[in-house]
Amino acid sequence: MQMAERRTPRSHTLRKNARLWRCASSAALGLLLLAPLVTAADPAAEFQLETLRGKVVFLGEALQKRTGVASVPEAQQRTLALETSGGEFIPLLEDTRGRAFRSDERLRKMDLELLVRHYRVTPMRQVLRVFEVKGGDRYEIDYWCDVCSIIMYELKDCECCQGPIELRRIKVQ
Ligand SMILES: [Zn+2]
Repeated sequence: MQMAERRTPRSHTLRKNARLWRCASSAALGLLLLAPLVTAADPAAEFQLETLRGKVVFLGEALQKRTGVASVPEAQQRTLALETSGGEFIPLLEDTRGRAFRSDERLRKMDLELLVRHYRVTPMRQVLRVFEVKGGDRYEIDYWCDVCSIIMYELKDCECCQGPIELRRIKVQ
């Protein structure tokens, strides 16, 4: 329907409207405009929550170890994946929470439980929460600035004071 409308004399008005939309730059307004794009009716927004266990690896490197097939050098560390306890590789979407596994090798050494979103349209999982599994206990993993008392989700300078932050483990039931 929209494609047909753009070919009508109304197209000038539509282009003007499109420019107005692009000009709407405030974050609040942006959120309001985007909200209808991720309604439950949009199949791209459909996801299931999953709990997965394993270790996070670089997919290219891990596949080479497992199968002997070498990715090209620039692809060795391109994609992060969870190597599940069952031996499956599940690619991880690299938002800031996913990038944490790239920036901090301590996270790649942990036995993990990840709470993830699995969107219907992609095999990649979005990491929501990270737990270390150790000695039968679970510890939620994040980063903490003692000075500002704020949580962050990847290793970097503090978003507030620009000082160093620390890896935090909190035992959960
Ligand atoms: Zn701080």
